[in-house]
Amino acid sequence: MTAINFAVIGYGGMGSYHVHNIMPNENERIHVVGTYDVSGERQKISSQHNHKIYTSLEEVLLDETIEAVLIATPNDSHKELAIQALQAGKHVVCEKPVAMNVEELDAILKVAKETGQTFMVHQNRRWDPDFLITRELYKNQQIGDLFQIESRVQGANGIPGDWRHELKHGGGMLLDWGVHLLDQLLFLVDSRIEKVSADLSYILGDEVDDGFITYIIFENGVRAIIEVGTTNYTKLPRWYLKGTQGTAIIHDWDLSGEMVIESGKKDIQAPKPIQAGVGLTKTMAPPSEEATETVSLPQAFAEYDPFYKNFYNVVRNQAEPVVKNEEVRKVMVLIEEIFKAVKR
Ligand code: NAD
Repeated sequence: MTAINFAVIGYGGMGSYHVHNIMPNENERIHVVGTYDVSGERQKISSQHNHKIYTSLEEVLLDETIEAVLIATPNDSHKELAIQALQAGKHVVCEKPVAMNVEELDAILKVAKETGQTFMVHQNRRWDPDFLITRELYKNQQIGDLFQIESRVQGANGIPGDWRHELKHGGGMLLDWGVHLLDQLLFLVDSRIEKVSADLSYILGDEVDDGFITYIIFENGVRAIIEVGTTNYTKLPRWYLKGTQGTAIIHDWDLSGEMVIESGKKDIQAPKPIQAGVGLTKTMAPPSEEATETVSLPQAFAEYDPFYKNFYNVVRNQAEPVVKNEEVRKVMVLIEEIFKAVKR
């Protein structure tokens, strides 16, 4: 097995996370030779890890020992960097969001096609354990047919960092977290989208959105609410999933949660009316005790290879990419639709 020699372009938060936390899991397949970052400070930190320090992009691209680059720079620089790297004969792993819009992505994909180099986007949240549980429920119907998917991430710390506050760098939460949640949704639901409505929030007063809500209706009847917030001092569950025979909650990335499912018992008593506020209701009363049972969430595993193992096999063995460029494109099209659907 000959490892793929990588140079990392952008050794910031995520670039260094790849180098120290993700790539080492595949150390037989992926070898980091060096890094290039426009920040001298980041270069200095990288040099402490015995990386070769490239002083320009050209130096990286002229290095014949480098087969692939990781692009982990702000979003507005992905297109140019990816095109230059592909034209220099390098394979490319690119951080999400792949680009600022569909037009930029198409320009990259055109060059990838012309050069025959591999171009793969790091949609890493396809491997998130909470997402894999949702996927298991969707595929194996432990709560019946899943007809409503609510997927949320909610923080209370505003938008982090610097460039994420600026439109010109592709800041804002729809491009940042939205691209993850929408990628998960489209990877899960294999159906055409019928309708999209959305609203972006600007509570923090930035020029970019600090959160959004979108409601998506698929042709197969599945409904999805996707929500990202950065001013949520207490939050809703990461996933709330409604099926025809039960409801599942996954509270957080710690995978706490449960499923309440129909017990299937016969001779179930009708729910009794309850006092609700100053009124009475039977509709909103809990189901009678024997009608439902509460069970643990199922375990779930990805039946596809981890990201870099897959990348290696795509490059060396013509394997199918787990993250396909046409899927990434569909997500970018949806993001553009959401921006269009919004009335500020
Ligand atoms: P960051 O600001 O921490 O790091 C970006 C680095 O790129 C900085 O060190 C900066 O000096 C450098 N840089 C900027 N322009 C450059 C250029 N032209 N050439 C070389 N270096 C350059 O940002 P970050 O949080 O690491 O985000 C980087 C990318 O990673 C973004 O696209 C972001 O969306 C993505 N990201 C992905 C995930 C994920 O879970 N997949 C998580 C965080 C960030």
